[in-house]
Amino acid sequence: MVGSAIVRKLQAEGYSNLITRTSSELDLRNQAAVTDFFADEQPEYVFLAAAKVGGILANNSFRAEFLYDNLMIESNIIHSSYKSGVKKLLFLGSSCIYPKLAPQPLKEEYLLSGYLEPTNEPYAIAKITGIKLCEAYRSQYGCNFISAMPTNLYGPNDNYDLQGSHVLPALIRKFHEAKLNGQPGVEVWGTGAPRREFLHADDLADACFFLMQHYNDDLFVNVGTGEDVTIRELAELVKETVGYEGDLYWNTEKPDGTPRKLMDVSRLHALGWKHKTDLKQGLEMTYQDFLANEVLYVE
Ligand code: GDP
Repeated sequence: MVGSAIVRKLQAEGYSNLITRTSSELDLRNQAAVTDFFADEQPEYVFLAAAKVGGILANNSFRAEFLYDNLMIESNIIHSSYKSGVKKLLFLGSSCIYPKLAPQPLKEEYLLSGYLEPTNEPYAIAKITGIKLCEAYRSQYGCNFISAMPTNLYGPNDNYDLQGSHVLPALIRKFHEAKLNGQPGVEVWGTGAPRREFLHADDLADACFFLMQHYNDDLFVNVGTGEDVTIRELAELVKETVGYEGDLYWNTEKPDGTPRKLMDVSRLHALGWKHKTDLKQGLEMTYQDFLANEVLYVE
């Protein structure tokens, strides 16, 4: 989702010499394959969007892969970028790097000030390591490696698999299928009380392009909208967007996860960037994209 959004943004800006690989063409966990790729292609600017990602259930179930895959991907790419003299690298992390009970909104300086949320601790540790790799290669070798921490994302090419997905694509699919099947109700996980912030992937790509051009500092930057909603509010909004008229059943056997993770985006705003797509508009765009590509998104 993020990689394809960055490619769309770069193409729209007139860039044509883009070097991309799918995960089946290049296994980024394989150190020798990544070393050869950088030696052969000699990229100048690297957007490190590749990661093993997923929603609360996937993160909590595949704890080994979320740690191992992400550590390998980051280590291989960051080290190869240093070795092959990449001019600039942008590493993408996540808002789950922050302590579970950090004050809200989350300021960049709250990193490593408390315990992490247990359901996604392995992923968060890997993403924190990515930030630290960029900082270390910058301070030791003078590499211009920067990091951005996006909030929860959604948009074209999202994962709609109900076992692996995040809440927003899961709810689009659940309400859509319930509407088609005339189901009286839809199961939604947790209590509905947690609050989440959502950013459209095209806005993130725009922010990445902006940071690649204008930001060269050590400290990572939060990327979000600065506004959040409860999961209950999100569910009502998705229900309305899809046009489903049944009921919601809250399954409190499923975990809530972090109570809130709202980004403080004042540094990004001060640099001169702000998101363009609000949640309602972004949901409508995303539902239209889901309808156009349902056969691809839902096996
Ligand atoms: P998180 O932001 O890492 O907690 O990941 P998710 O996007 O998977 O979950 C966010 C919140 O939405 C959690 O409180 C979930 O319990 C809740 N949620 C409600 N229904 C669903 C669903 O169908 N799928 C997912 N993934 N989360 C859901």
